[in-house]
Amino acid sequence: FSINMDQLQLDEELGRGNYGTVKKVLHKPTNVAMAMKAGRELEDAKLNAIIMELDVLHRAVAPEIVEFYGAFFIESCVYYCMEYMDAGSLDKLQGAGVPEDVLARIAACMVRGLKFLKDDLNIIHRDVKPTNVLVNKKGEIKLCDFGVSGELDKSLAKTNIGCQSYMAPERIKGESQNNLGTYTVSSDVWSLGLSMIEIGMGKYPYPPETYSNVFAQLTAIVHGDPPELPEDSYSEEARDWVAQCLRKDPERRATYKELLDHPFLVRDRTSNVDMVKWVEKALEHKAAVALAAAKAQTPQSV
Ligand code: ADP
Repeated sequence: FSINMDQLQLDEELGRGNYGTVKKVLHKPTNVAMAMKAGRELEDAKLNAIIMELDVLHRAVAPEIVEFYGAFFIESCVYYCMEYMDAGSLDKLQGAGVPEDVLARIAACMVRGLKFLKDDLNIIHRDVKPTNVLVNKKGEIKLCDFGVSGELDKSLAKTNIGCQSYMAPERIKGESQNNLGTYTVSSDVWSLGLSMIEIGMGKYPYPPETYSNVFAQLTAIVHGDPPELPEDSYSEEARDWVAQCLRKDPERRATYKELLDHPFLVRDRTSNVDMVKWVEKALEHKAAVALAAAKAQTPQSV
């Protein structure tokens, strides 16, 4: 079905990205809650290119991919509607700690989602990171924000200007750009490994405060040893799986198939990890942290 603004009731803001906001909306005709993302103004020629490119999203239907409902334009701005994920992004849920069986399930979902995009739609994600992994209270883990449209990316001003780079060493060095900017799947595998470390440790593994500037931080990614999952909380299998994603040489990184067939994820196939329970606990923790932060900001009464 096609969607337009008149059919939408705007609800609360869900978050802010680099360029603008994501709002919760209700699609009145179907009574479906959605998340709506807005882009900036564009020239008409580009709008048509985007419409054509977005068409592929209607085919991106898989259990590990956030569903796309449609996009529309108002005064040359693109509005993009997708499945509402009621537990938000993974970066904000990892604070409560992520036990190994939960980490394995998250990893399995991410790999299956990435493999589906590549094998069935010939799409490389290009922006794998915990903020782009969404969760719902049913315990489902889904990917969003993949590089389906060059024009849309530009419209949403997707730039890696944040202080957390998930870019693979070869991307930072610019090697894989010789070839008309070819981006290979293996660069996504690096970002996947780095995301697993961040989720497992509860923080980004190259913290900006450790480096005097962004250049030093990027140098550490390119020349330093890759980070590892902590020995005290994760098994040898989990640590090896992540290490296979984080090989500095892209040719030596594991493929999606190898990652799915690795003992870490083979074990997950028969694991009865309670994801609903984990999401519930993670949300409670997130709410407690938010409350503490709000209290700290309120001036003490005199
Ligand atoms: P970024 O630009 O950092 O990738 P986004 O603009 O994609 O961030 O999203 C900003 C925030 O909005 C996310 O961190 C997430 O918490 C929330 N969000 C995005 N998409 C959805 C969705 N489909 N359902 C629920 N929350 C979402």
